[in-house]
Amino acid sequence: MTEMSYLDGNMLDGPLRELFAVDLSAATGRCASCGAVGPVAGLHVYAHAPGLVGRCPSCAEVMVRLVRAPDRAWLDLRGVTYLQVPLPTAQPFPRPV
Ligand SMILES: [Zn+2]
Repeated sequence: MTEMSYLDGNMLDGPLRELFAVDLSAATGRCASCGAVGPVAGLHVYAHAPGLVGRCPSCAEVMVRLVRAPDRAWLDLRGVTYLQVPLPTAQPFPRPV
C-alpha cells in the first residue's frame, strides 16, 4: 500500500474563508470518531478527491469534506463533534444616557 501525500489544514483556510467570515484554521475541532481535540490547521488534507478531505491526524477518519462547484459549495462536518472558534472579546452594550 502506498501512502498518499497530504497538505496540512492551513490550506483549508482560503476555501473555508469563502463560506465563513472567521479564520477557521485557528478553530479547535473534536473528532467524532476518536475524540481527539486539535486545531483545524492540524488536519491532514487530501486534495486528490473531487473536493478537499480533512482527516483526523490521530485516527485518520474523515472530519471535514468540502466540495466547490462554480455556483455553490457543500460542507460536510459530520466527522466533527464540534468546532470551537476563537472570537474577540464581546464589547459590552452601550449604556443608555
Ligand atoms: Zn480521530
